[in-house]
Amino acid sequence: MESISHWINGSVSTEKSDRTGDVYNPATGEISAKVNFATNQTVDQAVTVATKAFTEWRHSSLTKRTQVLFAFRELVNQNKEKLAALITNEHGKVLSDASGEVTRGLEVVEFACGIPHLLKGGFSEEVSTGVDVYSIRQPLGPVAIISPFNFPAMVPMWFFPIAIACGNTVIVKPSEKDPSAIMLVAQLLKQAGLPDGVFNVVHGDKVAVDALLTHPGIKAVSFVGSTPIAKYVYESGTKAGKRVQALGGAKNHMIVLPDADLNLAADAAINAGFGSAGERCMAISAIVAVEPIADKLIEKIKERALKIKTGDGTKGADMGPLVTKVHRDKVASYIAAGEKEGAKIVFDGRDVKVDSEGFWLGPTLFDQVKPNMSIYLEEIFGPVLSVIRVKSYDEALKLVNDHQYGNGTAIFTNDGGAARRFQNEVEVGMVGINVPIPVPMAYFSFGGWKNSLFGDSHAHGTEGVHFFTRGKVVTSRWLDPSHGGINLGFPQNT
Ligand code: NAD
Repeated sequence: MESISHWINGSVSTEKSDRTGDVYNPATGEISAKVNFATNQTVDQAVTVATKAFTEWRHSSLTKRTQVLFAFRELVNQNKEKLAALITNEHGKVLSDASGEVTRGLEVVEFACGIPHLLKGGFSEEVSTGVDVYSIRQPLGPVAIISPFNFPAMVPMWFFPIAIACGNTVIVKPSEKDPSAIMLVAQLLKQAGLPDGVFNVVHGDKVAVDALLTHPGIKAVSFVGSTPIAKYVYESGTKAGKRVQALGGAKNHMIVLPDADLNLAADAAINAGFGSAGERCMAISAIVAVEPIADKLIEKIKERALKIKTGDGTKGADMGPLVTKVHRDKVASYIAAGEKEGAKIVFDGRDVKVDSEGFWLGPTLFDQVKPNMSIYLEEIFGPVLSVIRVKSYDEALKLVNDHQYGNGTAIFTNDGGAARRFQNEVEVGMVGINVPIPVPMAYFSFGGWKNSLFGDSHAHGTEGVHFFTRGKVVTSRWLDPSHGGINLGFPQNT
């Protein structure tokens, strides 16, 4: 049985672990590896190494940093298939989705290659006679990245390329459900020339997370995961004096107005609802149909959904299994709850037949969903779509704005005025117009509102650079002997 251990100071840790986690291949239901869980001592060792590495890395030239990132980009491209296979084997998503997540992560590496430009400060000459003022941004120190199971490569890549480019050192605590992809990433960073200790990985559960949240050597925490844990991480990390950004769960609505292109909307509902088996924070989960189009739209979605082949992601299926049996059962229990609460099942994923013991659940569509039902109120994080029928745009908007989550949303319409009004009025961080999932673009920042984000910095883009640096303003006066060495005029009371 393969054993996966921590990556500290440029190599795999040989430490014996009392506690381990099972890693599954969700398509077969078999355990594929055991992952070591970090103790407080493991985390302390990683922080000590990252602190030591910081003393040199923070003084590395911007050229050196970008050379490492350019080399890393090449290596990830060369190893993309290998990375995608690791992701599919432990997460279950189909290979094309796995490869797509690596591509999205690489875009942040490419963005971080522009760090010499991004770190340029401001300069004001002669604020007083002979006095200049300028601003610089400096790294924080060792930072922690705690990531969820659903994007084991991309989510860490939202953060570490920028953190490293800004001169910080990093400790990643990946999800214990799919820990292998980040280990290959660590090897590729080393191969790219990153000095040992700048990038470290500790595996584990709450013990490792708590140790990172309270360790005085950790200066900032970037977290992505479910809302209750995001809130906990934000509260604990900030209480310990750290800078924290914690991205949480989602319940993304897609509003379909009566004038929308229903074929486009149905295609979007299928891709955004059932892609990656709905295990995406930008998945559409609630379709708000503004009457009279609901019947027609449901028919079109059904037509398409019945063609989706659920099966092993390495063997040409359209949709893979869910990540674990526990998660599959939880999603199935939401379907049972929806049925009990009176929603109408149009097609039922519990009936899916796949020839293996994997964690299978096919696509499910509910109609007649009401805003007080659990399948509407809570994040399901599986291939389950709910249709809510409403009479007007205002009713649709109120549903979105009243929901506790505000990660992403989409509107389908041919009315530019309505779309513009929606983008202005909706209380959600990321909006798609005739686009189901507004995908993360590296040079914009990514993050939601309300219970989908705790903290005030979104991920990557210029907000990422800001998060991983702190500002300093320098006021400078140099006496100039060639002009008499006298330089007066700076106001005494400023
Ligand atoms: P999760 O909250 O269970 O786990 C996330 C991380 O927290 C993991 O590393 C895990 O080991 C750790 N963790 C779990 N329980 C903990 C505890 N009690 N104390 C401390 N740490 C703990 O999330 P998940 O199931 O891995 O991922 C799915 C969730 O992530 C969904 O809610 C999804 O919406 C969310 N997500 C959000 C975004 C976003 O951008 N907002 C992106 C991807 C995923």
